[in-house]
Amino acid sequence: MYDPNNIFAKILRGEIPAFKVYEDEHTLAFMDVMPQSEGHTLVIPRTQARNFFDIDADALARLIKSTQHVAKAVRAAFNPDGMRIIQFNEPAAGQTVFHIHFHIVPCYEGRELKG
Ligand code: 5GP
Repeated sequence: MYDPNNIFAKILRGEIPAFKVYEDEHTLAFMDVMPQSEGHTLVIPRTQARNFFDIDADALARLIKSTQHVAKAVRAAFNPDGMRIIQFNEPAAGQTVFHIHFHIVPCYEGRELKG
C-alpha cells in the first residue's frame, strides 16, 4: 500500500524543501538529509510506488537510468574511491521512507560510513 503523505511524496509536491541535484519528467534526485558519507544522494520516481516490487517495470527502468546518470555526476563532483548503489524494501530490510528510492553512497578509503 502506498501512503501519499510519505516524506518523499511531500518533497515531490514541494511541500517540504530538499536540496535537488537533478530532475526530469519522471525522476527527481536530492541530497540525503542525514548523509552516510559526503555526497549521499537519493533518486526517486515521480510515480507513486512503495518499493521495488510495486513499481511498474518501465518506471523502474527510467529510475535506474536516472540513478546511473546521477551517480556519474556524484562521482565527478566528489571523486570517491568507490560507491554503493543501494535500495531497501520494507522495514525488515531497513526501508524507512515508503516511496521507492535508490541511495547513491560515495565511499572513501579510510573513512567509515555514518549511520
Ligand atoms: P531508507 O532507509 O528508507 O532506504 O532511506 C530513507 C533515507 O531518506 C534516509 O537515508 C534518510 O536520511 C533520508 N531522509 C529521511 N527524511 C528525509 C528528508 O526529509 N529529506 C531528505 N533529503 N532525506 C530524508
